[in-house]
Amino acid sequence: AEAQLRQVQKMEAVGQLTGGIAHDFNNMLAVVVGGIDLAQRRLNGPRREVLMHLQNAMEGATRAAALTRRLLSFARSEPLLPERVDSTDLIGGMSDLLDRTLGERVKVEIDLGRETWPIYVDAHQLENAIVNLAVNARDAMDGQGLLRIATENVSLAANEVGDVRAGEYVRISVTDTGCGMPPEVLERAFEPFFTTKPVGKGTGLGLSQIFGFAHQSGGEVGIESQVGRGTTVSIYLPRTEVAASVRVHPAVQRAADAE
Ligand code: ADP
Repeated sequence: AEAQLRQVQKMEAVGQLTGGIAHDFNNMLAVVVGGIDLAQRRLNGPRREVLMHLQNAMEGATRAAALTRRLLSFARSEPLLPERVDSTDLIGGMSDLLDRTLGERVKVEIDLGRETWPIYVDAHQLENAIVNLAVNARDAMDGQGLLRIATENVSLAANEVGDVRAGEYVRISVTDTGCGMPPEVLERAFEPFFTTKPVGKGTGLGLSQIFGFAHQSGGEVGIESQVGRGTTVSIYLPRTEVAASVRVHPAVQRAADAE
Protein backbone atom coordinates (compact mmCIF):
# COMPACT_ATOMS: atom_id res chain seq x y z
CA ALA A 1 0.00 0.00 0.00
CA GLU A 2 2.87 2.31 0.84
CA ALA A 3 4.48 1.65 -2.53
CA GLN A 4 1.20 2.49 -4.20
CA LEU A 5 0.92 5.72 -2.28
CA ARG A 6 4.44 6.70 -3.36
CA GLN A 7 3.57 5.83 -6.94
CA VAL A 8 0.55 8.13 -6.73
CA GLN A 9 2.69 10.94 -5.29
CA LYS A 10 5.21 10.47 -8.06
CA MET A 11 2.55 10.60 -10.74
CA GLU A 12 1.21 13.78 -9.13
CA ALA A 13 4.65 15.37 -9.28
CA VAL A 14 5.08 14.36 -12.92
CA GLY A 15 1.58 15.63 -13.65
CA GLN A 16 2.39 19.02 -12.15
CA LEU A 17 5.60 19.30 -14.17
CA THR A 18 4.12 18.33 -17.51
CA GLY A 19 0.94 20.28 -16.75
CA GLY A 20 2.93 23.48 -16.29
CA ILE A 21 4.90 22.97 -19.47
CA ALA A 22 1.87 21.95 -21.50
CA HIS A 23 0.24 25.14 -20.26
CA ASP A 24 3.18 27.32 -21.40
CA PHE A 25 3.33 25.51 -24.70
CA ASN A 26 -0.40 25.91 -25.29
CA ASN A 27 -0.19 29.62 -24.66
CA MET A 28 2.54 29.90 -27.28
CA LEU A 29 0.48 27.86 -29.73
CA ALA A 30 -2.49 30.15 -29.06
CA VAL A 31 -0.32 33.07 -30.18
CA VAL A 32 0.63 31.20 -33.37
CA VAL A 33 -2.92 30.16 -34.22
CA GLY A 34 -4.29 33.61 -33.35
CA GLY A 35 -1.71 35.35 -35.53
CA ILE A 36 -2.35 33.13 -38.54
CA ASP A 37 -6.09 33.42 -38.09
CA LEU A 38 -5.96 37.24 -38.00
CA ALA A 39 -3.60 37.32 -40.98
CA GLN A 40 -6.02 35.16 -42.98
CA ARG A 41 -8.96 37.40 -42.16
CA ARG A 42 -7.00 40.48 -43.18
CA LEU A 43 -5.66 39.08 -46.42
CA ASN A 44 -7.50 41.76 -48.39
CA GLY A 45 -6.62 44.50 -45.93
CA PRO A 46 -3.43 46.52 -45.51
CA ARG A 47 -0.30 44.52 -46.14
CA ARG A 48 1.38 45.91 -43.03
CA GLU A 49 -1.31 44.50 -40.79
CA VAL A 50 -1.07 41.04 -42.36
CA LEU A 51 2.68 41.08 -41.88
CA MET A 52 2.33 42.16 -38.27
CA HIS A 53 0.01 39.22 -37.46
CA LEU A 54 2.35 36.81 -39.22
CA GLN A 55 5.25 38.27 -37.28
CA ASN A 56 3.39 37.64 -34.02
CA ALA A 57 2.75 34.05 -35.08
CA MET A 58 6.42 33.64 -35.89
CA GLU A 59 7.44 34.92 -32.47
CA GLY A 60 5.09 32.50 -30.72
CA ALA A 61 6.46 29.61 -32.77
CA THR A 62 10.04 30.64 -32.05
CA ARG A 63 9.38 30.73 -28.31
CA ALA A 64 7.68 27.34 -28.41
CA ALA A 65 10.66 25.91 -30.29
CA ALA A 66 13.03 27.39 -27.70
CA LEU A 67 11.02 25.81 -24.88
CA THR A 68 11.09 22.34 -26.42
CA ARG A 69 14.80 22.72 -27.17
CA ARG A 70 15.50 23.52 -23.53
CA LEU A 71 13.30 20.67 -22.40
CA LEU A 72 15.03 18.21 -24.69
CA SER A 73 18.49 19.27 -23.66
CA PHE A 74 17.39 19.02 -20.03
CA ALA A 75 15.96 15.54 -20.55
CA ARG A 76 18.99 14.42 -22.51
CA SER A 77 21.43 16.20 -20.20
CA GLU A 78 23.76 16.93 -23.09
CA PRO A 79 27.14 15.30 -22.50
CA LEU A 80 29.84 17.58 -21.17
CA LEU A 81 32.94 18.12 -23.25
CA PRO A 82 35.46 19.24 -20.66
CA GLU A 83 38.54 21.10 -21.83
CA ARG A 84 41.17 23.27 -20.25
CA VAL A 85 39.63 26.72 -19.87
CA ASP A 86 41.05 29.96 -18.55
CA SER A 87 38.11 31.47 -16.69
CA THR A 88 39.58 34.96 -16.93
CA ASP A 89 39.75 34.77 -20.73
CA LEU A 90 36.35 33.18 -21.04
CA ILE A 91 34.53 35.72 -18.90
CA GLY A 92 36.53 38.68 -20.17
CA GLY A 93 35.49 37.63 -23.67
CA MET A 94 31.81 37.71 -22.75
CA SER A 95 31.63 41.40 -21.92
CA ASP A 96 30.19 42.55 -25.27
CA LEU A 97 27.69 39.72 -25.37
CA LEU A 98 26.51 40.59 -21.86
CA ASP A 99 26.20 44.30 -22.65
CA ARG A 100 24.11 43.50 -25.70
CA THR A 101 21.95 40.93 -23.91
CA LEU A 102 21.21 43.05 -20.86
CA GLY A 103 20.47 46.40 -22.46
CA GLU A 104 21.69 49.87 -21.66
CA ARG A 105 20.04 50.24 -18.27
CA VAL A 106 21.99 47.40 -16.71
CA LYS A 107 25.57 48.30 -15.96
CA VAL A 108 27.92 45.34 -16.24
CA GLU A 109 31.07 45.26 -14.13
CA ILE A 110 33.59 42.48 -14.58
CA ASP A 111 36.27 41.92 -11.96
CA LEU A 112 38.72 39.23 -13.01
CA GLY A 113 41.13 39.49 -10.11
CA ARG A 114 44.88 39.27 -10.48
CA GLU A 115 45.57 35.55 -10.60
CA THR A 116 44.03 32.87 -12.70
CA TRP A 117 44.11 29.07 -12.77
CA PRO A 118 42.86 26.80 -15.49
CA ILE A 119 39.70 24.84 -14.89
CA TYR A 120 38.53 21.77 -16.79
CA VAL A 121 34.97 22.33 -17.90
CA ASP A 122 32.72 22.40 -20.93
CA ALA A 123 33.34 26.00 -22.03
CA HIS A 124 30.10 26.24 -23.96
CA GLN A 125 28.04 25.19 -20.94
CA LEU A 126 29.94 27.55 -18.67
CA GLU A 127 29.10 30.42 -21.02
CA ASN A 128 25.46 29.33 -21.07
CA ALA A 129 25.42 29.24 -17.29
CA ILE A 130 26.75 32.79 -17.05
CA VAL A 131 24.29 34.13 -19.62
CA ASN A 132 21.48 32.39 -17.70
CA LEU A 133 22.59 33.97 -14.43
CA ALA A 134 22.89 37.38 -16.09
CA VAL A 135 19.37 37.14 -17.52
CA ASN A 136 18.00 36.08 -14.12
CA ALA A 137 19.79 39.08 -12.60
CA ARG A 138 18.31 41.43 -15.20
CA ASP A 139 14.82 40.05 -14.50
CA ALA A 140 15.35 40.50 -10.75
CA MET A 141 16.46 44.11 -11.30
CA ASP A 142 13.50 44.90 -13.51
CA GLY A 143 15.90 45.76 -16.31
CA GLN A 144 17.84 48.37 -14.34
CA GLY A 145 20.75 48.07 -11.94
CA LEU A 146 24.28 46.81 -11.51
CA LEU A 147 25.48 43.36 -12.47
CA ARG A 148 28.89 42.35 -11.20
CA ILE A 149 30.74 39.25 -12.33
CA ALA A 150 33.87 38.35 -10.42
CA THR A 151 36.31 35.48 -10.50
CA GLU A 152 38.65 34.57 -7.70
CA ASN A 153 40.54 31.59 -6.36
CA VAL A 154 39.25 30.09 -3.14
CA SER A 155 40.16 27.23 -0.86
CA LEU A 156 37.13 25.34 0.42
CA ALA A 157 36.78 22.95 3.32
CA ALA A 158 34.58 19.90 2.76
CA ASN A 159 30.90 20.90 2.65
CA GLU A 160 31.69 24.58 3.08
CA VAL A 161 29.34 25.19 0.16
CA GLY A 162 26.70 22.53 -0.47
CA ASP A 163 28.42 19.16 -0.48
CA VAL A 164 31.66 20.31 -2.02
CA ARG A 165 34.88 18.33 -1.61
CA ALA A 166 37.77 20.05 0.16
CA GLY A 167 40.12 21.67 -2.33
CA GLU A 168 41.08 24.61 -4.51
CA TYR A 169 38.41 26.18 -6.66
CA VAL A 170 37.85 29.06 -9.01
CA ARG A 171 34.74 30.90 -7.87
CA ILE A 172 32.73 32.72 -10.52
CA SER A 173 30.13 34.90 -8.86
CA VAL A 174 27.31 36.87 -10.42
CA THR A 175 25.89 39.60 -8.18
CA ASP A 176 22.87 41.77 -8.83
CA THR A 177 21.18 44.66 -7.08
CA GLY A 178 17.75 43.11 -7.64
CA CYS A 179 14.75 42.04 -5.60
CA GLY A 180 16.45 39.13 -3.83
CA MET A 181 14.84 35.83 -2.93
CA PRO A 182 12.60 35.19 0.06
CA PRO A 183 13.39 31.94 1.94
CA GLU A 184 10.61 29.96 0.25
CA VAL A 185 12.06 30.80 -3.19
CA LEU A 186 15.68 30.26 -2.13
CA GLU A 187 14.76 26.82 -0.82
CA ARG A 188 13.32 25.70 -4.15
CA ALA A 189 15.39 27.74 -6.61
CA PHE A 190 17.40 24.72 -7.90
CA GLU A 191 14.34 22.55 -8.42
CA PRO A 192 13.73 21.79 -12.10
CA PHE A 193 10.68 23.69 -13.35
CA PHE A 194 10.38 25.87 -10.24
CA THR A 195 9.72 29.44 -11.36
CA THR A 196 8.06 32.55 -9.97
CA LYS A 197 7.94 34.16 -13.40
CA PRO A 198 4.79 34.60 -15.46
CA VAL A 199 3.67 31.82 -17.78
CA GLY A 200 5.71 31.87 -20.98
CA LYS A 201 8.58 33.85 -19.44
CA GLY A 202 10.19 31.45 -16.99
CA THR A 203 10.72 27.73 -17.45
CA GLY A 204 12.36 27.11 -14.09
CA LEU A 205 15.20 25.22 -15.76
CA GLY A 206 18.00 27.80 -15.57
CA LEU A 207 19.28 27.23 -12.05
CA SER A 208 18.67 23.48 -12.10
CA GLN A 209 20.78 23.22 -15.25
CA ILE A 210 23.54 25.24 -13.62
CA PHE A 211 23.33 22.97 -10.59
CA GLY A 212 23.73 19.94 -12.86
CA PHE A 213 26.60 21.52 -14.76
CA ALA A 214 28.52 22.50 -11.59
CA HIS A 215 28.10 19.06 -10.02
CA GLN A 216 29.06 17.18 -13.16
CA SER A 217 32.15 19.36 -13.39
CA GLY A 218 33.14 18.34 -9.86
CA GLY A 219 32.07 21.68 -8.39
CA GLU A 220 29.22 23.32 -6.55
CA VAL A 221 26.91 26.28 -6.74
CA GLY A 222 25.73 28.49 -3.90
CA ILE A 223 23.26 31.34 -3.55
CA GLU A 224 23.34 34.25 -1.12
CA SER A 225 20.37 36.53 -1.28
CA GLN A 226 18.76 39.34 0.67
CA VAL A 227 15.25 40.46 -0.11
CA GLY A 228 15.24 44.01 -1.42
CA ARG A 229 19.03 44.15 -1.72
CA GLY A 230 20.18 41.59 -4.22
CA THR A 231 21.55 38.16 -4.96
CA THR A 232 24.90 36.51 -5.54
CA VAL A 233 25.06 33.16 -7.28
CA SER A 234 28.51 31.55 -7.12
CA ILE A 235 29.70 28.67 -9.24
CA TYR A 236 32.72 26.83 -7.81
CA LEU A 237 34.81 24.86 -10.28
CA PRO A 238 37.76 22.71 -9.23
CA ARG A 239 41.16 24.06 -10.17
CA THR A 240 42.64 20.65 -10.79
CA GLU A 241 41.65 18.16 -13.39
CA VAL A 242 38.94 15.93 -11.96
CA ALA A 243 37.14 13.12 -13.65
CA ALA A 244 33.68 14.47 -14.46
CA SER A 245 31.81 12.59 -11.77
CA VAL A 246 28.12 12.39 -12.44
CA ARG A 247 26.13 13.39 -9.42
CA VAL A 248 22.38 13.25 -9.59
CA HIS A 249 20.06 16.16 -8.86
CA PRO A 250 18.45 15.74 -5.39
CA ALA A 251 14.93 15.93 -6.85
CA VAL A 252 15.76 13.15 -9.31
CA GLN A 253 17.43 11.19 -6.53
CA ARG A 254 14.31 11.50 -4.36
CA ALA A 255 12.19 10.17 -7.20
CA ALA A 256 14.62 7.25 -7.66
CA ASP A 257 14.66 6.55 -3.90
CA ALA A 258 10.89 6.39 -3.93
CA GLU A 259 10.96 3.46 -6.37
P1 ADP B 1 13.46 30.89 -14.37
O1 ADP B 1 14.43 32.02 -14.46
O2 ADP B 1 13.04 30.36 -15.70
O3 ADP B 1 12.29 31.18 -13.46
P2 ADP B 1 15.51 29.59 -12.77
O4 ADP B 1 15.70 28.15 -12.40
O5 ADP B 1 16.68 30.25 -13.41
O6 ADP B 1 14.24 29.64 -13.69
O7 ADP B 1 15.12 30.43 -11.47
C1 ADP B 1 14.12 29.94 -10.58
C2 ADP B 1 13.55 31.08 -9.73
O8 ADP B 1 14.56 31.56 -8.84
C3 ADP B 1 13.12 32.30 -10.53
O9 ADP B 1 11.82 32.18 -11.05
C4 ADP B 1 13.23 33.41 -9.48
O10 ADP B 1 12.12 33.42 -8.62
C5 ADP B 1 14.41 32.96 -8.64
N1 ADP B 1 15.64 33.65 -9.04
C6 ADP B 1 16.63 33.18 -9.87
N2 ADP B 1 17.62 34.07 -9.99
C7 ADP B 1 17.28 35.14 -9.23
C8 ADP B 1 17.92 36.41 -8.93
N3 ADP B 1 19.11 36.74 -9.46
N4 ADP B 1 17.28 37.25 -8.09
C9 ADP B 1 16.07 36.92 -7.55
N5 ADP B 1 15.45 35.75 -7.79
C10 ADP B 1 16.02 34.87 -8.62
